[in-house]
Amino acid sequence: MKKVYFLLVLLSIALGCKKNDPASSIQEIIKTDENYNSNEDSSRFSIVIHGGAGTILKAHMTPELEAAYRQKLEEAIRTGHSILKGGGSSLDAVQKAINILEDAPLFNAGKGAVFTSEGTNEHDASIMDGRTLNAGASAGTSSVKNPINLARAIMEASPHVMLSGKGAEQFAKEQGLEIVDPGYFYTENRFKSLQKIKENEQSELDHNKKISQNDHYSQDSKFGTVGCVALDRHGNLASGTSTGGMTNKRWGRIGDSPIIGAGTYSNNNTCAVSSTGWGEFFIRGVVAYDISALMEYKGLTLAEAAREVVQNKLNAMGGSGGIIAIDRQGHMVMEFNTPGMFRASMNNKEELYIGIYEE
Ligand code: ASP
Repeated sequence: MKKVYFLLVLLSIALGCKKNDPASSIQEIIKTDENYNSNEDSSRFSIVIHGGAGTILKAHMTPELEAAYRQKLEEAIRTGHSILKGGGSSLDAVQKAINILEDAPLFNAGKGAVFTSEGTNEHDASIMDGRTLNAGASAGTSSVKNPINLARAIMEASPHVMLSGKGAEQFAKEQGLEIVDPGYFYTENRFKSLQKIKENEQSELDHNKKISQNDHYSQDSKFGTVGCVALDRHGNLASGTSTGGMTNKRWGRIGDSPIIGAGTYSNNNTCAVSSTGWGEFFIRGVVAYDISALMEYKGLTLAEAAREVVQNKLNAMGGSGGIIAIDRQGHMVMEFNTPGMFRASMNNKEELYIGIYEE
């Protein structure tokens, strides 16, 4: 008995020393495990959304249209923010904020998706949980009303990360997700954009112009996509992205949005990222993961990593677009190399920011 008591005294002395030893407290701060909660201050939470980097050129924007975009961005960010404020998870905030943007015909996702070359709408989406590194993604679906809900169901209710086409739609039905007639996704504006691009394409063909991966699409017509990143009160990061892809896509083209590491990435130890832009470049540049990797292996801050990837690496490849990101301390970044990016952010102090063009 005496022996046990002696051991307990020794142990408590050792623990007492550890508490006051600066080296060990640093160890405690950087210690990581599956449930690691970097957000010791649970009042620190934040959320960022984007509505695509293919912003309408300023010359084509009307005050009414701009007001409509701002109003939807605000509705989406407030929806996500109130979930975080109430102690909800970053995954829920991301999904619900994206649902608002998917249901709005203004953005290239869900209801406002662009048209494929064949005149159909094919959606891609993905979501990632920074706490567990679990992820879900769907590609090339045409009847699931909210593709981000399908991505989440794939993450949580299937043994897979990515499902595509008919199989993904079958899974969505089995999960009881809302299925709509493909005609639901028709919007006149997007259909007109397809016609315009086809006319241009024809004239390019008439002039024998070969289109390569490095030819620039017109900023006005091809991009879109919506995305969200969030940090919740429990210190967990999440990100999600949903898109109709790029106008006039063909041959079952899949962009970066459902590719984990390119369009979406989250890791509680670094950051959560959602991308928008010309997907082929984001896939080749593994953009979302590259930002996380620069933080993890090179010790860059989120702002430094995002700038390096979007302004230097992506630009050097000829790629255009942008990203939104949050790190585990709640720092928010919105970085793009296009003339604008529909975007909004809100922090725990309820400071709201909405932007469209470069400032
Ligand atoms: N990244 C999307 C894609 O390439 C498009 C976009 O973000 O506008 O499919």
